Amino acid sequence: MRWRKVLKEMSPYTPGKSIEEVKAMYGLEDIIKLASNENPYGASDVVNEQLSPQAVDLEIYPDGYAGKLRTTIASELEINENQLLFGSGSDEIIVIIARALLGEGTNTIVATPTFPQYKHHALIEGAEVKEIPLIDGEHDLDGFLEAIDHNTSVIWLCSPNNPTGNLIKQDQLTAFLEQVPERILVVLDEAYYEYVVDEHYIDTVELIHKYKNVLILRTFSKAYGLAALRVGYAIGDQSLITPLNTTRSPFNVTSLSLALAEKAFADKAFIEKCRTLNRAQMERFYAYAEQHGLHIFDSQANFVLLQVPVSATVATEELLKQGYIVRSGDALGTPGYIRVTVGTAEQNDGFFKAFDTLLEGAGSLK
Ligand SMILES: *Cc1c(COP(=O)(O)O)cnc(C)c1O
Repeated sequence: MRWRKVLKEMSPYTPGKSIEEVKAMYGLEDIIKLASNENPYGASDVVNEQLSPQAVDLEIYPDGYAGKLRTTIASELEINENQLLFGSGSDEIIVIIARALLGEGTNTIVATPTFPQYKHHALIEGAEVKEIPLIDGEHDLDGFLEAIDHNTSVIWLCSPNNPTGNLIKQDQLTAFLEQVPERILVVLDEAYYEYVVDEHYIDTVELIHKYKNVLILRTFSKAYGLAALRVGYAIGDQSLITPLNTTRSPFNVTSLSLALAEKAFADKAFIEKCRTLNRAQMERFYAYAEQHGLHIFDSQANFVLLQVPVSATVATEELLKQGYIVRSGDALGTPGYIRVTVGTAEQNDGFFKAFDTLLEGAGSLK
């Protein structure tokens, strides 16, 4: 086979351990998964009410235009229907962008560490990837500007950033956009948008009218609690959406996913509830970190990047033995830290207890 050369140096995505795997490995009954930033409160009740075998006609192809979901979101965001693109999760939209704009002779700029899929798909397409280190968990936008050259095709911004949780400040974002040439696509991945409570946050949808090269990514996988359904969407000027739409496969989002996402989108009270509960629980992580002298990043998402008293791999393993699945910073480019999804009050009670044990044993684990 004549595989693309770059595939030899890459490997498939390794998912975090599943609940079933951990149960079997450690002989545990109760496992709490705080590793993938899923919504600990599940999804809106309206979704579950809709979930019946009659929900869709299984023999019929999905609506490739995603008409109903499109109308619902467009009217809520006060944009045109042709300013939206749907994907099988925002993951697929990242693939579509890379396919449409990246290839040999082009380069792309990303932060490091950030969501790894931007780099992954850029490499597969043969593009050069320029990685700009975060400064205190934040994007170094001046560093991004310096890295731009004639071959730069796509810039990826993640806000709040995964895995630090930091939000790009609005004045910095607009100052940055003013300086980026219009021929470069700026992707603003807002997978955690629904969780943002920063009072300085201004809705970024406004930006697509002024900056025709900005594409915002949002998803139903996090706050909406629908990760299993795989629905994400992009918001941008029609001049961006049309070529991306040409690139995507025609029936990329399933009928069931479209129908349930539409129901979920309408339940604003559920999102509001999750945002409030998430924030209240996150405050406990800040208090805990302060009490124990551990560094924690300033998060506007539903997870925290928390310092650990031993190596990240050891800490992750020790927490796992107690039934808590978290993500090791060694796998995320943040050694010495773990990324923890903020759980429910009860889940967090247990997590802090497990972490207490980790702190007590830290001396002998080093
Ligand atoms: C979880 C996540 C995604 C992927 O979302 P899907 O819509 O489930 O594909 C995209 N970007 C970031 C930053 C994420 O954390």
